[in-house]
Amino acid sequence: MLSRTERDVIVVGGGPAGSVTAALLAMKGRDVLLLDREVFPRYRIGESLMPATYWTFQRLGILEKMHSGPFVKKESVRFFAPSGRGALPFYFDEVEQGESAVTWQVDRAPFDQMLLDHAAGKGVEVRTGINVTGLLMEGERVVGVQTTGGDGAKRPLQARVLVDASGQNGLVARRLGLRVMDSRLRHISYFTRFRGGARDSGRDAGATLILRTKHGESWFWSIPLPDDLMSIGVVGHIDYLLKGRSKVAREVFAEERALCPPLEERLQGAVQEGPVQVLRDFSYISSRIAGDGWVLAGDAFGFLDPIYSSGVFLALKSAEYAADSIHDALAADDLSGARLGRHGEEFVAGVEALRRLVYAFYDPDFSFARFLRRYPQARVDLVNLLVGNVYRRDCSGIIELLDDWSPLQDYRPLSLSTSAT
Ligand SMILES: Cc1cc2nc3c(=O)[nH]c(=O)nc-3n(C[C@H](O)[C@H](O)[C@H](O)COP(=O)(O)OP(=O)(O)OC[C@H]3O[C@@H](n4cnc5c(N)ncnc54)[C@H](O)[C@@H]3O)c2cc1C
Repeated sequence: MLSRTERDVIVVGGGPAGSVTAALLAMKGRDVLLLDREVFPRYRIGESLMPATYWTFQRLGILEKMHSGPFVKKESVRFFAPSGRGALPFYFDEVEQGESAVTWQVDRAPFDQMLLDHAAGKGVEVRTGINVTGLLMEGERVVGVQTTGGDGAKRPLQARVLVDASGQNGLVARRLGLRVMDSRLRHISYFTRFRGGARDSGRDAGATLILRTKHGESWFWSIPLPDDLMSIGVVGHIDYLLKGRSKVAREVFAEERALCPPLEERLQGAVQEGPVQVLRDFSYISSRIAGDGWVLAGDAFGFLDPIYSSGVFLALKSAEYAADSIHDALAADDLSGARLGRHGEEFVAGVEALRRLVYAFYDPDFSFARFLRRYPQARVDLVNLLVGNVYRRDCSGIIELLDDWSPLQDYRPLSLSTSAT
């Protein structure tokens, strides 16, 4: 018989989703244990934030730390066509006033460490170097986790609610078979960092650049980081970037770079730091967001695509929703999936709005310039989507226009299952 602890909540994962869920619950007086298998600070891809992260930072009380931290201010995003021509940037202050019009490019090691330290400062017990290897179940209900520590010792840990914020690893989604891959976004990414290289000046110095390669088959991100570092990565369909290509990641990266003259020009004289890394099959969602005794947050629930830098924003937003639902469910002593996942439909509606714009980007006939020439009235809504204002503004107008531009075949917005099966 396992001894029950007094824990209200165990959070698996100390990335943005886990740290923020844990911090917000601790701020509400809940007893929270957070476990991560890695030792921090640790590297993560996902360095460009959306401006709408501002509101979570404000709620957490860490805006000061963001302003004084080692981060680069980002005021816009700029898209380059396959011809190499750069469009005018989309500036966030077209729709946001004041501080929330500016966001940040972050090296994830210090950023995630800062969020984790903040959670610990709010009373969360943080244990790193602890691998969660399984779920403890009583029937359909999750009642805790099985762990293995650095000393190899296996320990079961119990809690009233488990938050799975284990990122792409997706502990619960994999165990319960909830993960649904996005068949429209079968992408792979090769990425690395460079020191040096040209940046734009003034308020454009911190912009994210999105540069399509010559034949429109792939695109690069260029994200300026502190210390003269640049995060550079290429994304494309697996059939294009993997099949029949070199098995050596740096060779594929170099071939694509040669197809992107504006990037090549900016990287003249820059020195690559670290290997080219590869990630694939990262676009998925889960058919459920919560079940009896468990809730998913961040990438453990789903990830869209890197194109609009929405990953950390959605991780933070899902953390806010999860913390609020869990706090209410604990107060009501109702830890059913229906109660713990009450926020599911609302959260998913925002994800689906962003997904519609992601699909548009990969439509070969789509370009922002052409779209806005046809529907100039859509500009404000478009910038709102790029800002991440999917929970603060009504996005239905632009979704209708995107459907009018190019209707999607066989597309049904995700509807979460609330049953246990
Ligand atoms: C190619 C690419 C580019 C991207 N670019 C951007 C970008 O520019 N901007 C952006 O916002 N997002 C970007 N993202 C997405 C971003 O990386 C994620 O959305 C974000 O990191 C999600 O945060 P999270 O807290 O859910 O998960 P993570 O940050 O992945 O954290 C999960 C944590 O769980 C821990 N963990 C996992 N399994 C276990 C276990 N069994 N036991 C204990 N601990 C465990 C891990 O060690 C990790 O620390 C990108 C993603 C990809 C694939």
